[in-house]
Amino acid sequence: MSDRTDVDEEQQARRDDVDHELIEAAAEVARTRCRGDNHTMAAAARTRDGRIVTALNVYHFTGGPCAELTLIGTAATQGAYDLRTIVAVGDRDRGVVPPCGRCRQVLLDYFPTLRVIVGTPDGPRAVPVTDLLPASYVWADHQLDAE
Ligand SMILES: [Zn+2]
Repeated sequence: MSDRTDVDEEQQARRDDVDHELIEAAAEVARTRCRGDNHTMAAAARTRDGRIVTALNVYHFTGGPCAELTLIGTAATQGAYDLRTIVAVGDRDRGVVPPCGRCRQVLLDYFPTLRVIVGTPDGPRAVPVTDLLPASYVWADHQLDAE
């Protein structure tokens, strides 16, 4: 077996690992619910028990939350406190958009085993949130008064 075949099989495995239903859920919300400049991004997450939760960003110049962050609150509102996979999709057919730095940190702190779907030249790929924030600050590790 050649190295090239190994690479192809690895890429195929990664593609199969992608939750396409989740991407479509985010894309549908982006298509149908984004409005003007206030709501330009949609996110969808798969909860640990298999449900899909969706949300929109709340743009504001003071630092309104991204769709990933409003999704965390929406999920909690529905009793879902553990997310397995998340993806964000931009309005106006921008496709999958990776999380910003702030969201990467929040997602890592809330859900250390979360997988994040990101776009790549080979199509969408699900990566561990830890891969998106190498050498990351882990808030819980620095709470000296805990215990
Ligand atoms: Zn963000």
